[in-house]
Amino acid sequence: MNIKKIDHQSILRLLEEKGISPSFQRIKILEYLFLNRTHPSVEDIYKDLSSELLTLSKTTVYNTLKLFVEKNIVKAIGIEKDFVRYDIDISPHSHFKCIKCGKIYDLKINEEKDNNIDEGFKKVYSEKYIYGICKNCK
Ligand SMILES: [Zn+2]
Ligand SMILES: [Zn+2]
Repeated sequence: MNIKKIDHQSILRLLEEKGISPSFQRIKILEYLFLNRTHPSVEDIYKDLSSELLTLSKTTVYNTLKLFVEKNIVKAIGIEKDFVRYDIDISPHSHFKCIKCGKIYDLKINEEKDNNIDEGFKKVYSEKYIYGICKNCK
């Protein structure tokens, strides 16, 4: 699933395809995820959308994201220890967190290196969390 142009129509279609009734808040949250590829948290999304959506609550954001994860529209990322981030890119990839600026980067998975695991185990997929210092902070 890769929406190139983010318009109202394609977001509606995606929700429909997944059997989700397209409430205004769900549309807005999904649109936000497409436009902000920063792996936002519930807090980030709530902070940015609440001025526009006055009736929005953190619980609604949380429940909407939970539904999107269940329906395989977004992926929950456990790179932080105390909160969850969300990724609209559900293809397998690893994440790099810069410990200086806190930015999360998408990294390609190096299949060859990654297949090197203990005998008797079969890898189905792997996604890593890497912590370090990014290009911009070095
Ligand atoms: Zn950085
Ligand atoms: Zn990602």
